[in-house]
Amino acid sequence: MTHEKGNVSVNTENIFPIIRKWLYSDRDIFLRELVSNAADAISKMKKLTNLGEAKIGEGEEYKIKVTLDPKKKVLKVEDNGIGMSFDEIKKYINQIAFSGAMDFVEKYKDKTSDTAGIIGHFGLGFYSAFMVSDKVRIDTLSYDGTSPAASWESEDGMAYEMGESDKESRGTSITLELSDEGGKFLTADKSREILRKYCAFMPYPIYFTDLEEEKNRVKEEEKRRKEKEKEKKEKLESKEAEDSEDTSDVSDFEEKPYTPRPINDTHPLWLKNPKDCTDEEYKEFYTKAFNDYREPLFWIHLNMDYPFDLKGILYFPQMDNTYETLDGRIKLFYNQVFVADNIKEVIPDFLFLLKGCLDCPDLPLNVSRSFLQNDGYVQKLSSHIIKKVADKLTGLFKKSRDDFDKYWTDIGVFVKYGCMREEKFYDKVKDILLARNVTGGMSALQDLGEKIYYTNDEKKQVAYIEMAKDKGNTVVVLDHELDPNFMSFLEYKNNKVKFVRVDSEIAGEEGMQERKESLESLFRKASGDEKLEVQVKSLGESALAAVLTETEESRRMQEMQKLYMRQLGGKSDMDIASLFPVKQILVVNTDSSLVSKLSALADIPGKEDKTENFAKHIYDLARLSHGSLDASGMNDFLKRSTDLISELVES
Ligand code: ADP
Repeated sequence: MTHEKGNVSVNTENIFPIIRKWLYSDRDIFLRELVSNAADAISKMKKLTNLGEAKIGEGEEYKIKVTLDPKKKVLKVEDNGIGMSFDEIKKYINQIAFSGAMDFVEKYKDKTSDTAGIIGHFGLGFYSAFMVSDKVRIDTLSYDGTSPAASWESEDGMAYEMGESDKESRGTSITLELSDEGGKFLTADKSREILRKYCAFMPYPIYFTDLEEEKNRVKEEEKRRKEKEKEKKEKLESKEAEDSEDTSDVSDFEEKPYTPRPINDTHPLWLKNPKDCTDEEYKEFYTKAFNDYREPLFWIHLNMDYPFDLKGILYFPQMDNTYETLDGRIKLFYNQVFVADNIKEVIPDFLFLLKGCLDCPDLPLNVSRSFLQNDGYVQKLSSHIIKKVADKLTGLFKKSRDDFDKYWTDIGVFVKYGCMREEKFYDKVKDILLARNVTGGMSALQDLGEKIYYTNDEKKQVAYIEMAKDKGNTVVVLDHELDPNFMSFLEYKNNKVKFVRVDSEIAGEEGMQERKESLESLFRKASGDEKLEVQVKSLGESALAAVLTETEESRRMQEMQKLYMRQLGGKSDMDIASLFPVKQILVVNTDSSLVSKLSALADIPGKEDKTENFAKHIYDLARLSHGSLDASGMNDFLKRSTDLISELVES
């Protein structure tokens, strides 16, 4: 074996500052990189063994050990993978690893910030160790049985020294002498946190040991053992004193031997054949992966090899029905190595309301995000996921409508948002859109015909809801903040469909047309609004004598203006209301006996004032039930009510 000193052979002074800058925002990933390298080395070993080209020891378990000595500030990552020969270190570490770093810098010279989350597969992995270390050492023994163990050591990643190593077992061990800063950063808790985040589902068991903790554990164990022994001896002595032969209650001390447990689950459920997975397993996996103790509603298991390799499980979580609290998370994996959350270039953003794990080993992760966005492969992947989600929903709608109805409360927002974000999604689910109706059931929007009556406030609009119900109309509740946009969207998509708020139009046959003109002028005068539109309709005997409605168009126009002005920070809502008044219509109910009596009174000469006073009162009642009686109107109304009552009392 030769001893060799050298300099990594590419001339560049600025490479490390750049990598350092990149990693600064996401320093955690160095550990992910070292552990991934260890896992790769084991995978290679496994492959060779399967091919009969290598052999492992009997009963040998593939594993990765991560050991932290916080006192000495040393971190070790060990594997029993393929190992490296002296020449391989030269090739893989001095050349390839470095050229990977070079490639990276070439591509990201100017944009080091937006790449942090996604890219680890750069051949840059090993070098990231220098971000937290004063010195990095490799000890490695190749599987080939002939190459002697070799070492490599460097303080800055550029000047290195290679030589022999006393490593006796096959595999590689990477030793980091942590820098002051690195040592502060990498506590035992932090190490566990990083490993749990990035390595929770890696394919080989990873054991983490904190040497300080381990020392304490051994001490404690020893203490307990001694105590027990003492106890036992004392008991025996007292038994002897009692002169008893029976020593059965003096048990031998036997503490369960300590067995370290890997921090990861090497067989995540998404890799299992969906046919073999039980509901319990899906739920258990969900709790474990997302720390969410509420059960998921249902899930989709993606499992395909062709035309691309995609495995994963998407869960529909229980949701609060408000927009802000939707906090799903889709974790992206690359061969069981966690890459990042919610990568919007790969997963359409409305799916972020779901929770799940996606493992896509084919993803070109070593390229920039803007590339991903335009990549045909990524688009296909994205379409496939959308299709699967839509299929699941339509399948549920058709096969278990009751369940689907129940789920709607939780998934409704997701579906609506998805429709507006993704044309393809809308096309697939447009026939299964639901809304809760005021009688408590669920109605499919497509069954409601072209005119869909809705309420956005069941309490306030109760009188109107009752009228609509009396006329045999279904009224659905659309009161989520997403709903106004969603309705406009559906109207745009299907220009025959019209959403009509219950208080904006009242169904009813035109009635008593011969009275129309006189009632019209009577109420116009009573309202003090010469332009008030008055309609005369039969609304049923139990309805109020008159009701107010606002036209859907003018109300939406005002809402839009308000929204627009709020964004611009311009006029106040009050100004807008006067600039874009909502058109009100007074509908007089010809079925009401009060209206008939009023008409009769109007025909009696000399009763004009009285008639007008009653008409005012009826108009105020309509405003009251509509919620548009303002303060001065309320004052007039109360005074008039008092007068009317005292008149009644007198008579
Ligand atoms: P990458 O893993 O992306 O190839 P790295 O810089 O992390 O880039 O590693 C460079 C090369 O060094 C690897 O491709 C591999 O051949 C070799 N290597 C790194 N770590 C190990 C290890 N633990 N065991 C065996 N070979 C390793």
